[in-house]
Amino acid sequence: MSMVKPSLAALFFLLVGVFMVQPVIAQDSPEAATDTTQPAVTADSLSDQQETDTVGSGAGTMYPMSPERRAKLISYSRFVNIWRFVGFFVTLGLMALILFTGFSARMRDWAGVVKKKFLVVWLFLVLFLIVDYLLNFPFHFYRGFIVENQYGFLNQSFGEWFAEDMLSLLVTAIVGVVPLWFLYWVIARSRKWWLWASVAAMPFAVFMIVIAPVVIAPLFNKYEPLKDKTLEAEILTLAEKAGIKGSDVFQVDASKQSSKINAYVTGLFATKRIVLYDTMIDNFESDEILFVMGHEMGHYLMHHIWKGLALAIILITLALWITSRTISPVIDRFKHRFKFDRLEDIASLPLIIIFVTILSFLMEPISNGVSRYMERQSDKFAMDISRVSAESAEIAFDKLSVFNLSDPDPHPVIEFWFYSHPALSKRINFVRNYKPSGT
Ligand SMILES: [Zn+2]
Repeated sequence: MSMVKPSLAALFFLLVGVFMVQPVIAQDSPEAATDTTQPAVTADSLSDQQETDTVGSGAGTMYPMSPERRAKLISYSRFVNIWRFVGFFVTLGLMALILFTGFSARMRDWAGVVKKKFLVVWLFLVLFLIVDYLLNFPFHFYRGFIVENQYGFLNQSFGEWFAEDMLSLLVTAIVGVVPLWFLYWVIARSRKWWLWASVAAMPFAVFMIVIAPVVIAPLFNKYEPLKDKTLEAEILTLAEKAGIKGSDVFQVDASKQSSKINAYVTGLFATKRIVLYDTMIDNFESDEILFVMGHEMGHYLMHHIWKGLALAIILITLALWITSRTISPVIDRFKHRFKFDRLEDIASLPLIIIFVTILSFLMEPISNGVSRYMERQSDKFAMDISRVSAESAEIAFDKLSVFNLSDPDPHPVIEFWFYSHPALSKRINFVRNYKPSGT
């Protein structure tokens, strides 16, 4: 669950150095985490128009894959790939629109009715989030509601879906003001603002990752100990073997939003935990679940959240540095249309977002390359610790592909650029040929 993420909020958090590590690293979809742009909380459905082959309604018919399901998989994967670019250009287009119409400057003027600088930033943020949400709504609705419903993933009515969007916006408006205020405070005071902003992002990111599973995620879903006591006993045995406290394993009612299947590691320090979707419990055999749990335990024990966070901070520092070196000429060139002439003007936020969006798009192969390496390490760990048969591991991957409609065999360029996990076909090959150490 990477809660706080309507499209723009995601970028915003990246910008101030935060949240992206959650979906990319922590929220570990064994499915090709192809979908990091799509907030987990916004998958949903017209509950009165359920398709017959969704998890809830007809699990038995879903696996193994029928020819119809394969056709769906191909068209959904194609759509997801196209949308990577559509989403990117929509963001750039909307930000450009807000800038070139002078609307960003107008929002700054409106926000200027309050006296205190902190409140000006807050009011601007609220206005900006609302305007961005409205402009982006047709795209967001099509992607997150229409298409997800078309493919039978949605388990929410429009009202429920929309209510979660509003909750996300509210959380973003509350949590986002501090880093945004700090960013503009430091831009006004130091030419090395890119460095100070990145340094400050570290404790803030750690704080957010610590509180996310206990404060934010429960706003959207219910987290509880495993209900299936037999399964729980098996997982606890495995956890003990791996040296993890069993109380750190939770199940979540992810089926509330979507029929997609997943599991992930999240939190830090006392809030560090493994989360298992109820959709997985309903559709996987126990050996398949144990393999996935072994994989998550690998992330947990190899401190992949910390490593992902460290990488994210490095990339953010780089992105902000490049931005600081290249953004001023753009402001100079268009200042009459933008109606602001300095970066320290809060109206420049959409322009900063444009820079960071482009730079993070270009850097995706780096973060995804590192992520794929860690995923492979976790697959290896899972084979060593769970000791399930290679066949169970293969079926687990195969089911993820079938249930989530993720392409097991993407084009190599797509994998290289966008996949945070190795292609499922490669993971299947790996477990098939792997000899667990110690045997
Ligand atoms: Zn993983």
